[in-house]
Amino acid sequence: MKLKTKLTLGVGLLFLLIVLLSVIGSVYINKLKSDTEKILTANYNSIEFSKNMLLALDKIASDSAVAIKDFRKNSILQEKNLTEFGEKEATQNLNLHFRDYLQRPTVEKEKMIREDLVTIMSLNMKGIERKSDIAIITAENATFWIVSLGTVCFLIAVVLLVNLPQTIAEPIKQLTFSIRQIADKNYNQRVHFKGSEEFNDLARSFNIMAEKLQEYESSTLSKQLMDKKRIETLVNNMHDAVIGLDEHHYIYMINDEALKITNLKKEEMIGKTAHEVAVNNDLIRELLKNIENPAKEPIKIVTDHKENYFEQEIIPINIVKTGEQEKKNIGKVILLRNITPFKELDFAKTNFIATISHELKTPISAIKMGVQLLENQKFGILNEQQQELLKSINEDGQRLLDITGELLNLSQVETGNIRLQIESCNPKEMVQSAIKNVEKLAEQKNISITARYLTGDHDLVSADFDKTVWVMNNFLSNAIKHSFQEESISITVERQASSVRFSITDTGKGIDEKYHRQIFDRYFQVPGEHQNGTGLGLAISKNFIEKQHGEIGVKSLPDQGSTFYFVLPLA
Ligand code: ADP
Repeated sequence: MKLKTKLTLGVGLLFLLIVLLSVIGSVYINKLKSDTEKILTANYNSIEFSKNMLLALDKIASDSAVAIKDFRKNSILQEKNLTEFGEKEATQNLNLHFRDYLQRPTVEKEKMIREDLVTIMSLNMKGIERKSDIAIITAENATFWIVSLGTVCFLIAVVLLVNLPQTIAEPIKQLTFSIRQIADKNYNQRVHFKGSEEFNDLARSFNIMAEKLQEYESSTLSKQLMDKKRIETLVNNMHDAVIGLDEHHYIYMINDEALKITNLKKEEMIGKTAHEVAVNNDLIRELLKNIENPAKEPIKIVTDHKENYFEQEIIPINIVKTGEQEKKNIGKVILLRNITPFKELDFAKTNFIATISHELKTPISAIKMGVQLLENQKFGILNEQQQELLKSINEDGQRLLDITGELLNLSQVETGNIRLQIESCNPKEMVQSAIKNVEKLAEQKNISITARYLTGDHDLVSADFDKTVWVMNNFLSNAIKHSFQEESISITVERQASSVRFSITDTGKGIDEKYHRQIFDRYFQVPGEHQNGTGLGLAISKNFIEKQHGEIGVKSLPDQGSTFYFVLPLA
């Protein structure tokens, strides 16, 4: 049955019964009222008239005219108020006897009148008794009907009170619970309401919605599973090692390459924290150490008896969750990019450069020696043109020798074959040696070189003398190269807390700030300059200084000169 019908029937019936109750109540009250009125008008009045007539009869001897009038008036009223059986005859008798009495009054006749009056009174008294009995019965009937209907109303009200809230509240409660379940993605949830049609319709609609959501979920789930498999296959086939960590550093993903290089099985890693795994695994320990600040140097790992090089990258995973606004970190992905092929190429190139430059050195030196012999004119006099030619051959030979020397230095640094002879060196001696080496070059451009020593006599640095002088030479020859004629170059040596800083300042054309980092890269030359150079000098200098645990840098602005500096630790 419909809830609406149920409500209409319940409340309607209750309403009807209440109306009926009030109708019955008022009917009975009216009936009681009419009964009482009847008693009053029909019987009480007759008794009153009779009583008045008796009183008039008593006064007839003393005041006959008034009493007779009074008697007659009451007798007329009584004649009009004949209600009881036998009252009419008694009243007729009374009138007859009174008329007779008035013609010839006697005690017997008066007595007869009194008897008539008593008869009328007793008839009415009986009438009152009878009518009072009827009123009692009416009252009892009224009580019966009012109590019965009241009880029925009460029962219906109790039934409604017990049933209605339950019928409405229970399905709403169930529905609220089920909606919450659906919100928690429990799409198996169904509702079944007994009773009202409206709730049955609601349950049907809810169940259809849940079914569709379930269908949608399972279809998207299988799609998601498919996508997950695709991504897993992709990640597994990568040559780079991938390790996924959640925000608490639990490992939730690891690809085959990562398993290969860590030498661990999947079940030994998945679901464990990286710290747990790191206890027995050097590589994971190393990676964890660098997790906040990934290592710049490639990591060397030996797998399958072969050296492999990996570049470490940490990718934070930040997402904005549904309904939220701020980004939240939910983990990291450690990516170890396999750069072994590039490294191998780099090694091959370095070895090639080393071999070539080494092999070239001897013939170039021989050429230079031959040129010098010719220049000395031991094998005959040379004309001016021939001498010019020899001079240029000598310069080019020297340049070739410088280049092969730099290339050799670089390859030594890169292959790690460089051998440093660290000793306590006097900064002053190093500076003077470097100045001596570039004196001739400076003279050509009429450039003066001055040195300032802000160090104590006993401030020695821990360095490889020759390599450091080589770096200073490189700085000085660059400064000369990039300075104009007749300018000056200054060298400052100053003591710092636990180190000594060597600065070479020129007043040349300076370097744009955007190139400051790159000029220390191999083969880099500031664009737009056509100089005779290799772009290797500063790269080698950086390597030499860093190998000596020092620091190298530049401060320069275009057209304001440059200061190249390096810092070496105190001995
Ligand atoms: P190069 O053999 O070309 O001199 P370097 O590595 O020594 O190679 O220098 C790299 C580049 O840095 C140079 O090509 C030059 O453009 C710039 N550079 C180096 N020193 C100076 C300097 N003192 N003033 C201006 N530019 C300089």
